[in-house]
Amino acid sequence: MADAMFQSPAFVCRFAPSPNGRLHLGHAFSALVNAEAAGRTGGTFLLRMEDIDATRCRPEHEAAILDDLGWLGIVPAAPPRRQSEHFAEYAAALARLEGMGLVYAAFESRSDIARAVIEGEAASGRAAQRDPDGAPLYPFRRAGVGVAERGRLKAAGTPYVMRLDMAAALEEVGGALSWPEAQDAPEGPCAAIPADPAQWGDVVLARKEVPTSYHLSVVVDDAAQGITHVIRGMDLFHATSVHVLLQRLLGLPTPIYHHHRLILDESGHKLSKSNSATSLAALRAGGATAQDIRRWLDLPASALFPADSPYPTPRM
Ligand code: GLU
Repeated sequence: MADAMFQSPAFVCRFAPSPNGRLHLGHAFSALVNAEAAGRTGGTFLLRMEDIDATRCRPEHEAAILDDLGWLGIVPAAPPRRQSEHFAEYAAALARLEGMGLVYAAFESRSDIARAVIEGEAASGRAAQRDPDGAPLYPFRRAGVGVAERGRLKAAGTPYVMRLDMAAALEEVGGALSWPEAQDAPEGPCAAIPADPAQWGDVVLARKEVPTSYHLSVVVDDAAQGITHVIRGMDLFHATSVHVLLQRLLGLPTPIYHHHRLILDESGHKLSKSNSATSLAALRAGGATAQDIRRWLDLPASALFPADSPYPTPRM
């Protein structure tokens, strides 16, 4: 028993790509930051396939991800958790929130929403409020469609999404929310970051055809996999506000977060899967070694592909 007091606290982290294309240098960086932190702390590195979008995710991409990770020298401690195999768990979480009166079906199409945003801007003379990703907040209100009308629309097969009633959710939680963000290194000291989920409005938690969303499944999975440290790119920093809120509502633990820098192209944009030039596959085919990748990722983005590189310079 006494020994347990001196053991370092558990450190379980994960890399959670969507198998909808080849990994690029940004993914390699995230996977390496995770795997190296697990290595330094004697912790556990897990893998998760975020494959809820059946139209874009493919088994061959999953196989390629495993191959790329192996090539980088990264070995997960267990076979990957596939989100597509856990829809019942997400549906249960959604049902719990529904039982608390915090989610509702919304039937507006994307064009209904776009039109309402434009009309709202014209009527008020002010720009619509946007979420941290730049999308306008849902411009309608839960009260807009009555319960009976919702039942009729569902029965008629009208497409819908399930949205979180943000105001009701915040009222349910009652007080301020925050999350521990590890500074400098994933295992470093934490600062409490105040969460501001309201900036996302009534977020989508599920769709008629897919009973979950990124936000809902990520919190269910991080808890199910016992993740103590969520190490991921800075692009998901603000989404953490929604995740912390969902964790509180669902009675799930809030892990420590560490949002690492992003690998950007020469014009300062995030790397994308649609640009094959920075895919690990292309770099491998061009003769790069795993050591080269590790070395490049230590460099500032502007120096990633020096002119004298022996490898084909990615066009970005
Ligand atoms: N699937 C997400 C991505 O590929 C990562 C989600 C996360 O780490 O929370 O960007």
